[in-house]
This record gives sequence, structure tokens and C-alpha cells, in this order.
Amino acid sequence: MGKLYLVATPIGNLEDVSQRALRILQEAHMVACEDTRHTQILLRKHDIRAKHLTAYTEFNHKRKVAELVGQLDRGWDVALVSDAGTPALSDPGEQLVRAAVAAGHEVVAIPGPAAAIAALVASGLPTREFTFVGFVEKKTGPRRRLLERLIAEGRTVVLYESPYRVGDLLADLASVAPTAAVVVARELTKLHEELVRGTASELAARFAERAPKGEVTVVFAPGKGLLTLPTQ
Ligand code: SAM
Repeated sequence: MGKLYLVATPIGNLEDVSQRALRILQEAHMVACEDTRHTQILLRKHDIRAKHLTAYTEFNHKRKVAELVGQLDRGWDVALVSDAGTPALSDPGEQLVRAAVAAGHEVVAIPGPAAAIAALVASGLPTREFTFVGFVEKKTGPRRRLLERLIAEGRTVVLYESPYRVGDLLADLASVAPTAAVVVARELTKLHEELVRGTASELAARFAERAPKGEVTVVFAPGKGLLTLPTQ
């Protein structure tokens, strides 16, 4: 019986990869990834020649799950990586994990970077209890209702958003909870890494003018005065 390894890879900075992750990528019979060209950059940097590299994406995963479980059935170890961070977190990896478990295979997580956790711990917002919601609704109506519910629950919230929709998301949040403390974590671990902090109203105004460049993770929490910023 093969094992399914969930191998965390960098969310930007290529140094952020564990020795164990590199060893598993080297040893696995097959590496399944979202974008073979993207994963090759990491493999090449560490002189890893994957025996078989195959694409497992949001477009082909329904068909591919059966194929990869077939490889596990014949005794192959399969390493799953995503384009960034921890596989099976807001990507189709979750379906493969469920299918591997159902077929009786061992699933082994090789922990490492995850944008959600990096943004949360650097945000300065409470980390004791938090809710991760991945990507949220794109339509204003359902998104506002979701934000209302999350604000009412009182925990810190971490979510992924496209830079082009951050302005709209923050406008909805500002309408629901204008004084909520918000941190927009942009380009974590990369050259232009930046954490922008403020109230929902302040950041809605800021990002209404111009979408942030690069990848963003948004963290927010209801209580007023949760973030004390240095005076300029
Ligand atoms: N599995 C990944 C993880 O462990 O973080 C996340 C995959 S999800 C498909 C991609 C989203 O993660 C992006 O749209 C963005 O919201 C967030 N993200 C990824 N890299 C990031 C970075 N360097 N800085 C901020 N957010 C990032």
C-alpha cells in the first residue's frame, strides 16, 4: 500500500521548505502538483529529479483522483504539493485525501508554510480562537450575510481573497462592522511583503482607490481597539 504525502512548499520564499519535504519529494514514486512548471522551479533549485511529475488541478481533479488512488493501490508513494503552501487547504487536494482515506491508504502531512497561519500570527489580532473560511462568496448579498455571522461569532477570521476583490470585500465588511480591526497581509515571505493594518472603514477607503498588487490574505476581528498602531 502506497502512502499519500501532503508536502508543504513555500508561499513565496524558496528557502521556506523543510529537509523532510525535500527528501519526500526526492523519494516519492510520483509528485502530483497544480502546475508542473511552477513546481519544477522548486525541484530544480534543490536538484530533485521527480520520477513522475503529474498535474492535479481544479480542472482535472475529478478524473485524476481515481488515477492517483490507483497508483497508491499499486504501492506507489504519491507526494501532493500545491502552487503555494500546504496542499488540501483551499485547493482540490482535499478530495484526493478523502479518496485515499476511503481506499484505506495512509495519509501523512509534511507540515510547513501556510499563508493563513503566517498572516494570522503576524497580524497582532487574537490567535487563541480563530475561524478560517478560505475563499468567500463573490456576491455582495451572501458575502455580507457571511461577514455578519462571522462578526457576531466574535472570533478572529482569516480568509483568502483575490487582490481584485479585496476592495469590495472590505466595503462589505465596513458596512457590517466599520470599526473591526483588519490586517491585509500582502506578498508574505516575498520581496514586497507588507502588512496593512487599520479599521474596516479605513482599509475599505484605501483599497477602493487601488487594488493591492500580488497575493493577499485578510485577517479581521470584531472588537474595537484591538490594534493600537504607532503614531506617525
Ligand atoms: N494552500 C495555500 C496555503 O497553504 O496557504 C493556499 C492556496 S490558495 C489556492 C491561494 C491563496 O492563498 C491566495 O489567493 C492568497 O489569498 C493566499 N496566499 C498564497 N500565498 C500568499 C502570500 N505569499 N501572501 C499572502 N497570501 C497568500
